[in-house]
Amino acid sequence: MSSKLFSNLPLEKAMIDNLDAMGYTEMTAIQEQSLPLSLAGEDIIAKAKTGSGKTAAFGLSMLHKLDVKKWKVQGLIMCPTRELADQVAEELRRLARFKHNIKILTLCGGMPLTPQRISLEHGAHIVVGTPGRIQDHIGKNTLDLSNVHTLILDEADRMLDMGFLDDIKQIISHMPSERQTLLFSATYPEEINFLSRTIMKNPKSVSVEEHEEKPDIVQTFYKTSESQKDAVLLNLLLHHQATSAIIFCNMKITCDEVAEYLYSAGLHAVALHGDLDQKERTEMLTLFSNGSVSVLVATDVAARGLDIKDLDLVVNYEIPNQSEVYVHRIGRTGRAGKSGIADTLYTPRDERKIPEIEEEIGESVNYGNVDSLKHNDLYRAKYVTLRIDGGKKDKLRAGDIVGAITSDNTINGDEIGNINLTAMRSYVAVDRAKAKKAFNLIRDGKMKGRNFRVHLLD
Ligand code: ADP
Ligand code: MG
Repeated sequence: MSSKLFSNLPLEKAMIDNLDAMGYTEMTAIQEQSLPLSLAGEDIIAKAKTGSGKTAAFGLSMLHKLDVKKWKVQGLIMCPTRELADQVAEELRRLARFKHNIKILTLCGGMPLTPQRISLEHGAHIVVGTPGRIQDHIGKNTLDLSNVHTLILDEADRMLDMGFLDDIKQIISHMPSERQTLLFSATYPEEINFLSRTIMKNPKSVSVEEHEEKPDIVQTFYKTSESQKDAVLLNLLLHHQATSAIIFCNMKITCDEVAEYLYSAGLHAVALHGDLDQKERTEMLTLFSNGSVSVLVATDVAARGLDIKDLDLVVNYEIPNQSEVYVHRIGRTGRAGKSGIADTLYTPRDERKIPEIEEEIGESVNYGNVDSLKHNDLYRAKYVTLRIDGGKKDKLRAGDIVGAITSDNTINGDEIGNINLTAMRSYVAVDRAKAKKAFNLIRDGKMKGRNFRVHLLD
């Protein structure tokens, strides 16, 4: 008999029958690994990608423990976004059909508070929500978490990435410490370890092996000293003339210092880390992806969820503490069949970490010689971005912006790069040589019949 069958789990027959009716006969890999442990009451850290069946992996365990006759919130699931919370709630409701009357409530931002408050007054067994809104309800005394026996953090790395760490900790302080905590995450950045140490009890780790096609990435390790590191990094960037590079550092503070150094050396470099607010982050990423910023200096957490194609270079300014993070970092280059370059700086102190990486990647690393790097000239980002203080809310369209910039025929359409419109702002990349001219045209001209403020982001 296969151990993959749900019927081998200590679940009620009605639950198994419902799973059958849903067409769930065999467990997915993450379910197979985590359910026996979570049903036995263990805390779990599970690493699994989207689409691996996480909802049932944690949902079945939570539903199994539920006392339906008790109209108190017994299970809390936190998700990074409303969309993800809705997905989880939907799947959970299907899983909960094995029993009458299980009430599952979603509490997310962007929805009015009052109906949520009324639903809470009527009673719910399980709450699925985003940290911000859950906190709102705690603050208004409309959500009582003192009966929660199961806490789930879904897509935990993304929640940390979005800056929810303090909110999560604050929410947890309203729950009994005698509870089961299950944490699901696609990656294990250092912050996840930190979080799990503070909120979990002897968590068991489970993860699902992935078999991805091996991308074509040229990996080279360069030995340097702490004092030479910045200079070597600059040298590497000039050598590759990298116009789309990510430099990974282990800590935020290092990101700031490195970005500062590169910027004063004349490169278009910015630091991206978790301290930025959403607007600043969006702005930086816009500038990076439209070719106005060449180098992004980031922590692993800050780089999470970044979907940037065509990175020509990844540099590990430091060797990460876990070798799987190394693999994750370098995987950002060499995508979609293209070859990529991943360079790693290390000091004598880091040398001991290299064998671990070799084991993780299944081959020995190549060593490069810093002295053999070409000393190329400084290069500039191809574009400069103009930010216009007007967006979709003002009915601005990309066509209006192109029209304004090309109105006197000194700038051609092909000297305009990406245009990104948000509700309140628009970003347009203009060829470096024409940026000032484009700025003047927008500053002095009109779009949709009115004049907009404009800034040159360089
Ligand atoms: P994740 O949260 O890991 O992205 P979901 O929990 O949303 O994944 O599940 C992904 C899809 O797989 C859903 O459509 C779900 O209904 C389905 N699914 C989950 N577990 C099973 C299973 N054991 N057998 C068949 N389908 C499953
Ligand atoms: Mg999910």
